[in-house]
Amino acid sequence: MKIAVLPGDGIGPEIVAQAVKVLEVLSKEGRNIDLEYGEIGGAGYDAAGDPYPAATSKLANEADAVLLGAVGGYRYDTLPRPMRPEQGLLRIRKDLGLFANLRPASVYPELVSASTLRPDVVAGLDILILRELTGDIYFGQPRGLRRTADGEREGYDTMLYSESEIARIAHVGFRAAMKRDRRLCSVDKANVLETSVLWRDVVTEIGKEYPEVELSHMYVDNAAMQLVRNPRQFDVMLTGNMFGDILSDEASMLTGSIGMLPSASLDANSKGLYEPIHGSAPDIAGQNLANTLATILSVAMMLRYSFDDEDGAQRIENAVRKTLADGYRTSDIFQEGTRKVGTKEMGDAVAARL
Ligand code: NAD
Repeated sequence: MKIAVLPGDGIGPEIVAQAVKVLEVLSKEGRNIDLEYGEIGGAGYDAAGDPYPAATSKLANEADAVLLGAVGGYRYDTLPRPMRPEQGLLRIRKDLGLFANLRPASVYPELVSASTLRPDVVAGLDILILRELTGDIYFGQPRGLRRTADGEREGYDTMLYSESEIARIAHVGFRAAMKRDRRLCSVDKANVLETSVLWRDVVTEIGKEYPEVELSHMYVDNAAMQLVRNPRQFDVMLTGNMFGDILSDEASMLTGSIGMLPSASLDANSKGLYEPIHGSAPDIAGQNLANTLATILSVAMMLRYSFDDEDGAQRIENAVRKTLADGYRTSDIFQEGTRKVGTKEMGDAVAARL
């Protein structure tokens, strides 16, 4: 397993160091794990004058998977846009052709009261939102601002998906469902949008290749409502770029804790970039305060989706569960009666249980 490790900025290096402890445990068990470090974001700018240096691109292209911390920091906020840390993220996604974004949202029994929703609504929640990342209204042409004949300004964008773009994300969705509860809900707006009519048609066609997966379709407005009404009805939700952008943020807040949520972005061959969904948290960087569990859980996703190592993935997830059950909490998820620990102690606790 050749893994490019890109810690990035802010809390990135601290949280990635804990995830590496987990990889080291797996390595001692006999898995052949090769870690190579590179710079991205502000760290890339500092080292090479570029948020996505050529050396990092080479490293990422040669690796089987990429583990990323986070990018961004106050110091870089005044740089011209192409030099900003966030450009590093956009460029690596494009460079590696990562079109499928997977965001699981699950609620651990110990953290059920951290959600803003009632515990009986979110207890046991375990959903996966799969968002297409490279098409849709965010990239469709033409787009722009213009003046009408009577001088009024108007803005326009093009929602556009080709059959092949829909088919490849649908395959990822059905394959992910096969590894879970075998239910896939495709989200669209087929009652209004032509793009969605095609989306529904293609997803239905592809679904015939996966007879074990139960396929349903839901309009996006209803999906937004159902996510807060009864989120447990979902297993995998398959969405286009814009609907997924909105629904995945909604779903992440069902769990109540940004420091717990991992993500994966995959290419057509299941090569992936794995990262926590949160940012570089400059307000707590370097203080041993950050929650590292989202990054550790990103390693579990890496094993599951890039290395087809379900056993390793589940063991990491179980080690996290056990650590929480044993009362360990970083300050973002601390509650009375639990044990407050720092980033490093949390990493050690998970590694010990693994
Ligand atoms: P953020 O996610 O970094 O932080 C939001 C809040 O959540 C902060 O109070 C932070 O302390 C807290 N937080 C985040 N992760 C945490 C963790 N693991 N443990 C404990 N607390 C945590 O978002 P922001 O403040 O809007 O952005 C900060 C920087 O991060 C900006 O430069 C932004 O551009 C960048 N950013 C990067 C990514 C990424 O790398 N994928 C994503 C979002 C934002």
